[in-house]
Amino acid sequence: MRIEQNYSLLKHNTFGLDVKTKYFVEYENEADLQALFRDEYFFSQQFWHIGQGSNLLFLGDFDGIIIHSAIQGVEKIKETAGFVWLKAGAGTDWDSFVAYCVENGWGGLENLSLIPGEVGASAVQNIGAYGAEAAECIEEVHAYFLETGEKKIFSNAECAYSYRHSFFKEPENKGKYYITYVVYKLSKKPEFRLDYGNIREHLADKPVNLDTVRQAVIAIRESKLPDPKKTGNAGSFFVNPYICIAHYEGLKKHYPDMPHYPVNDEVVKVPAAWLIERCGLKGKTIGGAAVHEKQPLVIINQGNATGQDIADLAAEICRAVKEKFFIDLSPEVNFI
Ligand SMILES: Cc1cc2nc3c(=O)[nH]c(=O)nc-3n(C[C@H](O)[C@H](O)[C@H](O)COP(=O)(O)OP(=O)(O)OC[C@H]3O[C@@H](n4cnc5c(N)ncnc54)[C@H](O)[C@@H]3O)c2cc1C
Repeated sequence: MRIEQNYSLLKHNTFGLDVKTKYFVEYENEADLQALFRDEYFFSQQFWHIGQGSNLLFLGDFDGIIIHSAIQGVEKIKETAGFVWLKAGAGTDWDSFVAYCVENGWGGLENLSLIPGEVGASAVQNIGAYGAEAAECIEEVHAYFLETGEKKIFSNAECAYSYRHSFFKEPENKGKYYITYVVYKLSKKPEFRLDYGNIREHLADKPVNLDTVRQAVIAIRESKLPDPKKTGNAGSFFVNPYICIAHYEGLKKHYPDMPHYPVNDEVVKVPAAWLIERCGLKGKTIGGAAVHEKQPLVIINQGNATGQDIADLAAEICRAVKEKFFIDLSPEVNFI
């Protein structure tokens, strides 16, 4: 177990904020984690589990313990003619895991290429992109419950996945389960989803296989999203809001070009980026934080932003969208 004191989290958050934590604890295996759960000092402090910090906003220094999993690696635990089951350590880099699956010809995650973060968080967040969601391939999640120190293996159904949501994000469960492994079930005979974003156009006349689809997704993402290694950001700051059909019909009279995606007979999803853009907020700055010029759903650190600048800009976006469209935006990013 690695323990650091008065430790900078600069390399542990993609906003690039140089905040400090009183303690940083990294566990190597499940035995380390169990030892942590027996430690009285640990429970006397405030604490928070992080992955790569690509969906977090630290509002300032953290007066407590930041925990990180160093459980890495991928093991094939079962195989049939059509599928493989892979048990991946929670601290495994997500995109390296996707690359490994693609190289081996196992399909299901290729549309989720280049999403920053780790395997553990993929199961918390139900990460999604280009018509795919992690939940479609998650078979089991191995997690420890903080309050009892006991391990529970969650089935996919028990994870209660929905759009960017899971059991682990429910207010009563948030921060209470530490994920150590995720079992993914992948297909040896992949079915490709090419009708999202511009995947089909990017492929042009190339053959369609796992590698070409992954490369197309990477190319599209690189052309649209700022690279957090160069410009601090946490990807989409807000989730796309759901509104009732009556609300949508009312807005459509004023904004006939408003994009929308039916969710069911009563609800539609509206792109938050469109709402923000129509509020004229592209490029808007507060302190060192700015709304990205190309993708208004992304808030960037121009180099000298504080966590508070970013939070203030997010609040200003919410206020403007509410005033113009009567829609409440919810942050996808976790405020710490
Ligand atoms: C440039 C960019 C693009 C992005 N694009 C997308 C996208 O297309 N689709 C998408 O869905 N997301 C996207 N994101 C958001 C982000 O990549 C995901 O939310 C990712 O899953 C976060 O992983 P992480 O390891 O950094 O987790 P963190 O941000 O560190 O943590 C996220 C949450 O997971 C919890 N957590 C992390 N590890 C564990 C664990 N082992 N046990 C228990 N809880 C844990 C944390 O407590 C927190 O609640 C993007 C982010 C960036 C910066």
